[in-house]
Amino acid sequence: MFKHLSNQCIFCLIVQKEKPCFQMYEDDLFFGFLDTHPFNPGNTLLIPKIHYRWVYDVPQFGAFFETAKKIGLAIQKATKCHSINFLTLGYQIQHAHIRIISRFKNDGHENGILLYEVKKISDNKMKELATSIQMYL
Ligand SMILES: [Zn+2]
Repeated sequence: MFKHLSNQCIFCLIVQKEKPCFQMYEDDLFFGFLDTHPFNPGNTLLIPKIHYRWVYDVPQFGAFFETAKKIGLAIQKATKCHSINFLTLGYQIQHAHIRIISRFKNDGHENGILLYEVKKISDNKMKELATSIQMYL
């Protein structure tokens, strides 16, 4: 399963459990965990367990987004956010990922996602968020 993983890639290390994370999802193909530089509480990163450079390189592209939707709906129930954004850029970490972002009234992001508008959330609160999202999965 791990034969395509890269030792240089932080997301590959997370999938291999060589780096800690606030995990809330895992199946045969994908792995979900809280972003430690979140745009909002509950901001989740969904990645393929095999290293692909871009989201559109993932052969199971449809399943990737279906899984993101499932997690997004769980985030919505857990955080009571008014909507969910799905963001795919891929320039900072070169391992395909979908950012699943809860949106709240007056969350500082206006009509988009401001990449510098990062929230500071304690480890305890992060654990709590991962656990409560997991309850709806
Ligand atoms: Zn990787």
